[in-house]
Amino acid sequence: MKGVWWHWSNKLLVGALGFVLTACPGNRTKEVPLQDRETQVLLQKSGARDYSLNNALAAALPGLNCISQARLGRHLVLAQPGATYDTQDTSVVLVIPYRPTDPKASAGVFSNVKERYVLLNPDYIRSWVLKNSLSGTNTALPDVLNLVLLHELGHFRLGRTGRFDEPVAAAPRTGQMEMQEVTPQYLTTDKRLELAVDSVAIGLVNQAARPGSPPACFSTAVTVQLLVPGANFNLAGHRTVDQFGSPHILYLPDYTSTHPNLELRLAFMAYYLHRTPEGRQQIDDYLYAREVAPIHRQEMDPRIFQGNGLKF
Ligand SMILES: [Zn+2]
Repeated sequence: MKGVWWHWSNKLLVGALGFVLTACPGNRTKEVPLQDRETQVLLQKSGARDYSLNNALAAALPGLNCISQARLGRHLVLAQPGATYDTQDTSVVLVIPYRPTDPKASAGVFSNVKERYVLLNPDYIRSWVLKNSLSGTNTALPDVLNLVLLHELGHFRLGRTGRFDEPVAAAPRTGQMEMQEVTPQYLTTDKRLELAVDSVAIGLVNQAARPGSPPACFSTAVTVQLLVPGANFNLAGHRTVDQFGSPHILYLPDYTSTHPNLELRLAFMAYYLHRTPEGRQQIDDYLYAREVAPIHRQEMDPRIFQGNGLKF
């Protein structure tokens, strides 16, 4: 008798569970191949797959995920063949290494917070590392990848997508350049967002670099702690040499409307890592040279300056 009751009660339980699962379609999960999702995004954003940095990315993700899982509850993944993800799982962020096929809509690295993906252009990263390394080699590439992806995680932390459809190439040096040099380089809303995202990234680094932090988190954080002050010094040094003899040594133009000059961003990041009076002074000097000094130069422009006490 007990056996019959057990049999029927089990059948009822399974039936009830089946009813609950099928009656609530909102709770139903859907597994999608990651490569299908990758293809969908690349079609939308005019890009092609570029797996040339995948080994370096695969090596970077465990440390980044150690930091990200603990602080943000997010998990970066690459679209490995055969891998799937649950479309309802909002913790998964797909990293898509890509090559832009439309030069008008290219970006170096871009996060779409709502759609939960990061587009990353390996050519852009490699050329940046080569251009800005003291040794002229790619040895700093893993550290730069860590910094770049921590910045992108900062976008997810703030829930703010970056700007995509802006060419990243430097503005052409035309006859307008002289005029631009007397135009204050305002920190627009977009640029302030990028600075805020940088500070979140450095906040993650500072937390992960504390004693007692899990080794994977700690070692990733230390690479960024070492990279940022060196890159800041390096960029300032390159610029000083390039502008030797120029009257506007401290002037830092922004080449796109979306991001402040990288030298200024690195100065802020270096200061968040190590709050020294010299770091603070460097930032103050940069902001003065960008936003105040151009106005003073305009005041002395004979087309504007009409002499003191001139009465009309
Ligand atoms: Zn950004």
